[in-house]
Amino acid sequence: MGRKALYNAAMDRFTEYTGNTFAVDKYLKHVQNAAARNNFTVTRLDVPGQERPVLVLTRPADKPGAKNVYICGGVHGDEPAGSLTILRMLAKGSFPRDVNLTLVPLINPEGMSLNQREDNQGHDLNRDFMLRHTPTVQALTRHFAGKPFDMCIDLHEDWEATGFYLYNAHMNNDTLDRDIINAVKKRIGEHFRMEPATIIDGFNAKDGVIDLAGNAYAFGSSELPQAVSLVRENKGYGFVMETPSNTALKDRVDQLSLAVSAALDTARSRWETPEEGKQGARKR
Ligand SMILES: [Zn+2]
Repeated sequence: MGRKALYNAAMDRFTEYTGNTFAVDKYLKHVQNAAARNNFTVTRLDVPGQERPVLVLTRPADKPGAKNVYICGGVHGDEPAGSLTILRMLAKGSFPRDVNLTLVPLINPEGMSLNQREDNQGHDLNRDFMLRHTPTVQALTRHFAGKPFDMCIDLHEDWEATGFYLYNAHMNNDTLDRDIINAVKKRIGEHFRMEPATIIDGFNAKDGVIDLAGNAYAFGSSELPQAVSLVRENKGYGFVMETPSNTALKDRVDQLSLAVSAALDTARSRWETPEEGKQGARKR
């Protein structure tokens, strides 16, 4: 049994992973159990026309005034690694306590059960965040209205990629998003490689980074992805992380876990640093 087969056997125990997708109902049960063990509150969003709910997990920070972080996966039903990454990090207790967390581990459960990119009506949910035609996107945007996020991370896979890459959806290049990108590149580079292509999905890329700051409208207003929509609404940080589908599932999950951890660690250490004025005030 090779490394991949071994890993698939391990995944079978909780997801019945079969190659390109996983047993969705079993997966959702494991998410709920892991959420309960780690003090997350689970909200079921029932979506018209969908057999299974979208689960939204929330956990407030252990301190007041904390930042709001949103992490999601599985908006594309033929990209299992993001959903499995969130479940693994959840089950291992890897998510930090000092931020307010919102997790949506599987946005498109029907697509995942069909092993197709789109939902069960054939719609690409991640191109519907402007027009909001689909019941799933309507349910999500209604649920998140008035709950701004300081950072969102959306987990994906790409069949054409040979390395890891990310979209920086933040509108202004500043030092925190630069630091996050450098930390992700460093951590990925220790075990894997960044995508070398200089054009990815029609966007200019460098060392596996696509900056949307210069091409924020490249998707067209009618095809708005979730991360760009959230960044526009909240003026926060937004990253879309992409791992190559054509590698072992374990490697894909490892890459996304490394990238999420690097982004969270970098942002948290910046958010932790007290401003000078506040430090002075505390001394008195
Ligand atoms: Zn995708």
